[in-house]
Amino acid sequence: MTNNANENAIESENASSRRRVAVLGGGISGLAAAWRLSKIAPELDVVLWEKTGRVGGVIGSKQIDGFHLEASVDNFITTVPWALDLCKELGFEQELTSTNNRYRRTFVVRKRRLYPLPDGFMTMAPTKLYPMATTPLLSLFGKLRCALELILPRRRSQEEESIAAFVTRRLGREAFERLVEPLVGGIYGGDASRLSLQATLPRFAEMERKDRSLIWSMKKSQKKAKKVKREEESGARYSFFLTLSSGMESLPRRLAERLESENRARVELNREAVKLEKASDANGANGDGGWLLTDSTGKTERFDAVLCATPSDAAGSLFRSVAPITSEVCAGTERTGTAIVHLAFRNEQVKRPVAGMGFVVPPSEGNGLLAGSFSSFKYPSRAPEGTTLLRIFVGGARSPDSLTIPESELLDRVLAETRALLGVEGEPLMSDVARFPNAMPQYYLGRLDAIRRLREELDATPTLALAGNALEGVGLPACVKSGNDAAEKIAADLGISAN
Ligand SMILES: Cc1cc2nc3c(=O)[nH]c(=O)nc-3n(C[C@H](O)[C@H](O)[C@H](O)COP(=O)(O)OP(=O)(O)OC[C@H]3O[C@@H](n4cnc5c(N)ncnc54)[C@H](O)[C@@H]3O)c2cc1C
Repeated sequence: MTNNANENAIESENASSRRRVAVLGGGISGLAAAWRLSKIAPELDVVLWEKTGRVGGVIGSKQIDGFHLEASVDNFITTVPWALDLCKELGFEQELTSTNNRYRRTFVVRKRRLYPLPDGFMTMAPTKLYPMATTPLLSLFGKLRCALELILPRRRSQEEESIAAFVTRRLGREAFERLVEPLVGGIYGGDASRLSLQATLPRFAEMERKDRSLIWSMKKSQKKAKKVKREEESGARYSFFLTLSSGMESLPRRLAERLESENRARVELNREAVKLEKASDANGANGDGGWLLTDSTGKTERFDAVLCATPSDAAGSLFRSVAPITSEVCAGTERTGTAIVHLAFRNEQVKRPVAGMGFVVPPSEGNGLLAGSFSSFKYPSRAPEGTTLLRIFVGGARSPDSLTIPESELLDRVLAETRALLGVEGEPLMSDVARFPNAMPQYYLGRLDAIRRLREELDATPTLALAGNALEGVGLPACVKSGNDAAEKIAADLGISAN
């Protein structure tokens, strides 16, 4: 630490007699963490540093020519409570918008045509037998192989297994390639032969462990869910996915506004943390004096605790000297990028429309697309009357060049594929490209052990915490939970009880 840094650090310490906590990163994970921390420990002085000039991280909404576009996060799942609870806490109840139930179906591309995913097929297992028996997506052999799943024994080994190996073992190669691989690719953009089932979709590993057959287990939980639904019929109900009518970006924006206006935390934009080190205490003993954080302008401040919610590469470099195992795991996390292309047409330009939420594309189609959403069916208020708004995903491990080729080339490529799939004629009314290089951490084989080692180290490192999408889920609810958990760790380390 330089003399200058020492003076600055001491200056900021004198400015506040309250204990200071730095939250790094103003994406949903960091904002949720700052919010939670300010609620359970209002006595702390919480400061959030965000590298860019805006909060929200990858989340971004925009309006173009009457169309509402979501650059990345489109909606969030409600089967887990964390994102929904946060929205309610922030007063978003009137804005929660359910998906349009009339268009529940998802389609799968096969030989450049769209076929409905068999009704009741949930990510990697069927819940209804008749639609599986009649789907044109599988051959007779493929269907019989799927049915065999009902009598296959469970796997003995508890070792991590790839999603590809698991599904091929249980349902056969055809069901994997034609149904599961496109669904998983559409969500994670990763390589299913390397994605760890236990780290990415643990509930399916648990189904096999508990009930042996996935089909049987899914049917059992559907029955249970129906019973709960009947019992809850009178209460407030939400669809499987929800969005916000004012756009998903209003969630991080409101969080930041409320943190500031209610004096819960200070949000400092354009502040990039570049160095984190242990501070020395008054006697010079290393480690008891909190943390020193340096920003990209060279200014250093002292904090009693640090909660890092940056993407994993930044966390990897910040933690290098203070938590080497965490640093190594974060820096070694492979990430893929995604591009989202919005296209709008007049309804009559779409000659082969399909009534559904969207479609997924198997890699064997070779067109580089991962998936598409019919945004104007899913959330009708997003497009003017008489128009169709499409949201196409490209990139992932499948076509990394989508992130680097010129935007106009990417647009032409996606437009050509869209024309072929939906029979679109003429030019789009509106188009938009948003690219997110390295935005999706992949939980590849070995992830469980890496996260266990990371947790062990952080548990043994008081007043230091980590949140974000590289930990235990990439979806918005999991990010909110990671922020909540990290805030609770910091509060507990500072001797403050969460209740
Ligand atoms: C294209 C796309 C579509 C998605 N769609 C959905 C969806 O529909 N539903 C869903 O649930 N999830 C979706 N996700 C996943 C989800 O949106 C993300 O996992 C989540 O928003 C990540 O939030 P985060 O705060 O962890 O990270 P980020 O959003 O990446 O935020 C991290 C922040 O840290 C800042 N930062 C970086 N380095 C520093 C530093 N050194 N100092 C200070 N600040 C720093 C960055 O500027 C950024 O603002 C999608 C993701 C992508 C990429």
